Amino acid sequence: MSSISNVSENTPHILILGMGGTIAGLAPNPEENPLQYQAGQVGVDALVAHVQAVVPEGVKLVSRQLANINSRNLTDAHLTSLGLAVKDALLDAAVKGIVITHGTDTIEETGLFLQATCGKLAHTQSKRVILTGAMLPSNAPGADGPSNLLDALRWASTSIDNCPGGIYAVMDGRGCMAIDLAKRHATALNAPLQNAPSSSVGLINPSWLSGVKAVQAAWNEDLPIPQEGEWPWVEILTSHAGARPETITQWLSSAVKGLVIAGTGHGGFHDDWVNPLDQAMAQGVALVRTTRTGAGATLRNIPEVDAPGCWASGALTAPRARIALQLALNASTQANKAGKPLTWQDFFARIADLPEIR
Ligand code: ASP
Repeated sequence: MSSISNVSENTPHILILGMGGTIAGLAPNPEENPLQYQAGQVGVDALVAHVQAVVPEGVKLVSRQLANINSRNLTDAHLTSLGLAVKDALLDAAVKGIVITHGTDTIEETGLFLQATCGKLAHTQSKRVILTGAMLPSNAPGADGPSNLLDALRWASTSIDNCPGGIYAVMDGRGCMAIDLAKRHATALNAPLQNAPSSSVGLINPSWLSGVKAVQAAWNEDLPIPQEGEWPWVEILTSHAGARPETITQWLSSAVKGLVIAGTGHGGFHDDWVNPLDQAMAQGVALVRTTRTGAGATLRNIPEVDAPGCWASGALTAPRARIALQLALNASTQANKAGKPLTWQDFFARIADLPEIR
């Protein structure tokens, strides 16, 4: 599904890629119950038309619908097509910046994916890719989508000295690096960047900006975008009181390639999982530990010494660690095919070890 506005594609423009979400949602009774709605109902052309009159003068907009889904249904295939579209646009001289309208439920997965596959290219091309969404459907009183979209368009199109090319997100008047997104509230208007180090969209904060530059200096090479059928199968399992070994053993006869453990506290897991997880690693299943607490980093060899087949997620949340592990497994397979003996741990560490912005 694709639609382009009437601006010629050779005219310098901002490209808006529509993925769906609440920003494109419609509620049948918006006055009575704005939160009972269907996501992904309004086309991206209509969302753009709604704000067109107030975008900065001279900024031309081209929109393209890649999907119109509730992002809880995001698939590997959606990520592949989005990643390829972003890459093409970054290499297209007519595209000056890219805005992506997206559901907030899985925006953190997409943010990590784009940073890891297109972050270097965005930086070297000096173009900003800005993810945005909304918490209220498009016809709700006080809908937040139009102002978020407008902020994203402004940020994508302002002078590059203000903030370097890279992969960002904008919601509720603030911007952050897309790798720092994590939906931490069910309803608040700033839900996906509530805990993210961020800056006001209007006035970029110098200490945040120096953190961004540190991340970009450390990110040396984009990882390959997996082709549609190539994404390794990786699951997230949460450790909890009363955890049973069967939660792990049932995966041992499956084709799963990796497990992300959302552990308690420092990312520890129930003693009843130790033997089955050892067995999983012995079978070649990649293991990543993260914390279910919602904040703070998971560090190597804390609370126990990690086995070589297990890697700590750093500051990555479980959903982000899952995408990072998929990309790392795929990157290792591609490297090995090209004769380079790089492991998934080599690639995963590049993402997990990125400096944290404070
Ligand atoms: N369920 C919606 C989605 O992720 C939520 C949102 O966009 O805020 O598509």
